[in-house]
Amino acid sequence: MARVFAVASAKGGVGKTTTTANLGAILAETGADVVVIDGDIGMANLGAALGIESPPTTLHDVLSGTAKTSEATYEGPGGVYVVPGDTALSSYASAEPENLPSVLRTHSQADYVLIDVGAGVSHETSLPLSLADEVLLVSTPERDALRDTEKTRQLTEQLGGTVAGAVMTRTDASTPVSELATGTLAATVLASIPEDEAVRDSLAVGEPLSTYAPNSPAAAAYRELVAELTGIE
Ligand code: ADP
Ligand code: MG
Repeated sequence: MARVFAVASAKGGVGKTTTTANLGAILAETGADVVVIDGDIGMANLGAALGIESPPTTLHDVLSGTAKTSEATYEGPGGVYVVPGDTALSSYASAEPENLPSVLRTHSQADYVLIDVGAGVSHETSLPLSLADEVLLVSTPERDALRDTEKTRQLTEQLGGTVAGAVMTRTDASTPVSELATGTLAATVLASIPEDEAVRDSLAVGEPLSTYAPNSPAAAAYRELVAELTGIE
């Protein structure tokens, strides 16, 4: 059975998609069978982050009942499998989040499935928190981001989900990472991903750090996160 993670925070722009793409690619690099799903059905951009532009069939087609999950699954950089969303606003209305469990069932033989969750608090962003085995909370060190991410932590608990811990993004050497997390966000910090221009550059070309900038500080930090989650050094 796949170990399913929801990569989540109610706050937008904190690095959920970046984390899903890079965690997925680095897990795949270890030889694991990894599927990343663009669960942000309002603002799909995970596919583009992994170089899957304008795919003919998307998660939206699967959620609206007009395609099979296998038809919306593409091989991305480094062998990570990607279920991208549709970037057209028109597809949003017909996508039924209730069909997400069938997507997970199709990929239950993978080693890891990562769901990139959208921002905000709504039915569609809450559902993955309870469907996943574990929730990875993602936050920048700013107060508002930590507060919003804490809401996602609480929501996960209310829904009976399990929080794996927090990934702090865009940190610098002076960020008191653990202090911030225990103060506002009641979760263990699993990794601290430094502010790194390689992140923006890699997203712009649609490649994960593992192939675009394998020696960058952010890539090293994502490898530490993988080691933390898998126990593999
Ligand atoms: P979310 O999915 O939470 O909305 P994204 O993953 O799209 O957030 O990240 C938002 C922006 O933050 C991205 O465009 C990316 O350039 C930037 N970003 C994320 N992580 C880092 C990092 N470690 N260093 C520099 N920029 C980052
Ligand atoms: Mg995103």
